[in-house]
Amino acid sequence: MSEPRSAKIRLYVEHPLGEGQTVPLADVQAHYLFSVMRLGLGDPVLVFDGRAGEWLARVAVAGKRGGALLCERQTRPLQVPPDLWLFFAPIKKARTDFIVEKAAEMGAARICPVQTDFTNAERIRQDRLQAHAIEAAEQCGGTFVPEVCGLRRLSDILADWPEGRRLMFCDEALVGAGAALGDAPRGPWAILIGPEGGFSDAERTRLRGLPFAHPVSLGPRVLRADTAAVAAMTLWQQALGDWG
Ligand code: SAH
Repeated sequence: MSEPRSAKIRLYVEHPLGEGQTVPLADVQAHYLFSVMRLGLGDPVLVFDGRAGEWLARVAVAGKRGGALLCERQTRPLQVPPDLWLFFAPIKKARTDFIVEKAAEMGAARICPVQTDFTNAERIRQDRLQAHAIEAAEQCGGTFVPEVCGLRRLSDILADWPEGRRLMFCDEALVGAGAALGDAPRGPWAILIGPEGGFSDAERTRLRGLPFAHPVSLGPRVLRADTAAVAAMTLWQQALGDWG
């Protein structure tokens, strides 16, 4: 089904969607639609809530401090990405933002900042990172928004590892080894990317000893963490994900 060309604006809304459903707009959304984009009554907007797919809606109330949309019909079903989590050690703000944005675009189901031995960040702004994931979904045509988790220690994550999930451990010590997932099976996976300082010897020893961990090289050059996150997701999606 093709969409009216004019309905280009895509908005994530935290409200159930359905035929005839009225969707109230948050102040910032109303400001964006009516003051910035200059939409008026009856103008089309595409909305998604992360559960019910994408819907064509029209402006029903356009106020200075609020407004509402009226849902007409579904334009795309919900498309859930493969069961892939991205664990990464937060780095500088702009590069962390980049990782979250790219992970959402590339089809991560969950984005989890992790504190490793050499991670510089003590805390993260989870709400800000979640907003980046939402913006990325709005922009890339996604109907699903990956959850951004709170910062957790790598040792706690490994101690509490979910049964049946495999780990693509991107190990910079393997630089130059063949970059491959081999014939690793499909199913629930996670990718682990270290901080700028890499993994500590203790972490590497522990990770290599885990039965669910697959140590992987990302080629002959040492990549920056943000590049490594994108490269790893590309490899995984191509081999085991929904790109094929
Ligand atoms: N300072 C470290 C590099 C860290 S790079 C060093 O000089 O060795 C940041 C992270 O990106 C690493 O922890 C790893 O997870 C990933 N990475 C970068 N290049 C990689 C490669 N060639 N193979 C596997 N992982 C890599």
